[in-house]
Formats: sequence, structure tokens, C-alpha cells
Amino acid sequence: MTDLRPDTRVVHLPKVQPEGSAPISTPIYQTSGFLFDDPAVFADGMDRPDGAFVYGRYSNPTTRVFEEAVAGLEGGVAAVAAATGMGAINTIFLALLSPGDHVVAQHSLYGGTGHMLEELEARFGISVTYVAEDDPEAARAAFRPETRFLYLETIANPMTQVADLPGMCAAAREAGVPVIVDNTFASPIVCRPIEHGASIVVHSSTKYLSGHADIVGGISVFADHELHRKVWKFHCGLGAAPDPFASWLSLRGLQTLPLRMARHNENARIMAARFAEHPAVAAVHWPGLPTHKSHALATKLLPDFGGVFSIDLAGGREAGVRFMKSLKVALLAPSLGGVETLVLHPASTSHRSVSDAALAAAGINPGTVRIAVGIEHPEDLWADFAQALDPAR
Ligand SMILES: *Cc1c(COP(=O)(O)O)cnc(C)c1O
Repeated sequence: MTDLRPDTRVVHLPKVQPEGSAPISTPIYQTSGFLFDDPAVFADGMDRPDGAFVYGRYSNPTTRVFEEAVAGLEGGVAAVAAATGMGAINTIFLALLSPGDHVVAQHSLYGGTGHMLEELEARFGISVTYVAEDDPEAARAAFRPETRFLYLETIANPMTQVADLPGMCAAAREAGVPVIVDNTFASPIVCRPIEHGASIVVHSSTKYLSGHADIVGGISVFADHELHRKVWKFHCGLGAAPDPFASWLSLRGLQTLPLRMARHNENARIMAARFAEHPAVAAVHWPGLPTHKSHALATKLLPDFGGVFSIDLAGGREAGVRFMKSLKVALLAPSLGGVETLVLHPASTSHRSVSDAALAAAGINPGTVRIAVGIEHPEDLWADFAQALDPAR
């Protein structure tokens, strides 16, 4: 059209589709919705996750690349990305649960997840039975006809217990119960729970998948199309979809996931071994150490053990505070999985209002410090930790 006035021309910009070449990097589809020639294609896109793109709350091409990439890494058939890890987890909970339903979950859960299960119990008529992450007999005894899923975490926070995925999934399969596994701490480089029988794998992609502490995001990967379709339908209405720019940053991070995980694993191995020999440290919790309660299981199940571990400082709460204050390379911050080493002392931060007795019940002691190693040079990291542990300082 050549007779348009400037007001209309600037609203309806020219469309450029590359032909004969294509971008190397995934474009950011920064659009709220999509244009159609055919209303039937529009209607079909609203009905199924693999139809045409319709609206940003349902799906987006940049986000779809991230979903397909992570589904491929986890060995699933499809994925649904979310604005945060909790967004992904809550989408699944709300898509699958109704009043009167029952959930079996492991005791030691990520704080946000545990809190949501408590809310569902207190306000939405859901009941939850907690079992150990490595006790298939307890899971078998807990399943009821109204049990909708078993919820596990591959490696738990902050004591890094490893779930017996093959044993727990076998028990769930006998009872016809799907298994959801939060694989955030392991990443698909360290574990692919679908290979052990999980039906849904969730991640906080805020952590290792994106890997640079610059976005929050989440994703669920599905072992079959039926569950994917059910959760996607609910996701379209719930409104926890990610922004395409966050998806793009997640993709950019994902391209170096195997390289980063190799360094995270190696740095954790070196640091855990050195902390274990230090007189100021009463215990080190990392599944790669023979002293860890999950070591035998972890060695059978995992090719490596991830970049998160905890130490118990012999000096308790005060030693924890002093240690945190004297670190220079490692940084005091929530979260994990980025290139920087981040440390957290639960007793003076996330759990500061919790008594020593209640801490102990949660398996944490006053001197516990969680360390999520980054990809710095291990000698620079150890020099920093060693000076912070030095009693003469
Ligand atoms: C961070 C985290 C979550 C929540 O993810 P957000 O992106 O913070 O919403 C869930 N599970 C685990 C294991 C986590 O570490």
C-alpha cells in the first residue's frame, strides 16, 4: 500500500523475513501476540501446545527453543517454561491437584516448595505425607487411591541428600503414581530423572541452566504428551509464562551448561576435600565424599555430584557469621548455580528466627554454611576460604 499516511505507516511497519540466510543466534520474539490469515489456525493454536503461536501467555518461539533444548537434554518429549522455578512448580501442583487429593513428598524440600505444600494442605483440602527420599518401602506404605504424585528432589538443599530415584520410581510405578523430580541441583548433566522413571522433571532455571545470576526462570519437562498437554492447558490460564528476553538469556547460558557443570563439579570436589581436612570444620556434606549418608547411592546413580555442598563450622553460629564476613572471592547471597561462588549461612539469614532445636529438626546446625561453588580458579577460591577459616585472623 503506497497511499498510507505517516500515522498509519509507523503503526504498520514493514515485515522483513530473512530469505537465503538465517540468524545464527535465536532471535528474541519480543511480541505479545501473533498475526493470522486464517481464524481456524488461530483457534487450533489455542487448543494444543504444538499448534501455531497465538499469545505470549501460552507460548513464544524464543521460549519454545529453550523448552525443546531442555526437553532434549532431559530425555523428555516436551517442556513448559515459566517465569520462575516456583512458577513452574506451582503450575504443576495446581494443574494436577483438586480438594481431597493426596501427595507424597520427601521430607527435605526446597523452602518455597515446602511452604506451598503447607498452603495447599491448610487452605485447599490437599493432604501430604512426608517420607525419606531414599525409602521406597515408606513411599509404598504412604500411597493411597487418591495420591496424585510423588514429589522428590534429586539432590536436596542444603545437606545434599540424594533421592533413590530408581527405587522410589519403581514403588510409584507399582501404585500407578506419577513421580515429579526437582532436578535443579543436579542439572541434566549430572542426572536425567526420566531415565529412572520420573514423569515430570522441574528446574529452577534461575540456577545452573541459565547459569549467570541474571534472570529468574523455571521449566518442567514431561516424559509423555498427555501430562504435557494437561499442564500446558493450565499454564495458559495461570499466567506464569516467562518473558522472551529471559528465555533468550536462559538459552545463551544453556549453551555452556556442560562446560560450567564440569568446573562446578571439579571445584566442589577440591573444596569439599580440603574443608574436610580443616580443623575448624566439624563436617562436610557433599555426596561425593565417602562420609556422606548418600555416598553409596550417589556413586551408583550419578556420574558426578554437583557444585553445592555444606560445611558445619565447629564454632557454631558465631563462627558462621565471622566466616561469612571475612570472605572476599566467595559472595554472601541467596541462590546458586551461577559463575560466581555464593555462600549462605542459614542460622544468620534464611533461618535467623529459628531456634537451635528447630534448626536441628531441619537437619541444619548453627554453624552450617551452604557453599555453591562457581567456576573461579580453585586455588583462588581455596585461598579465600582458608583465610576466612584462619583463627589467627
Ligand atoms: C531456587 C529453587 C527453586 C525455586 O526457583 P525460583 O526460580 O527461585 O522460583 C526450586 N527448587 C530448588 C531446588 C531451587 O534451588
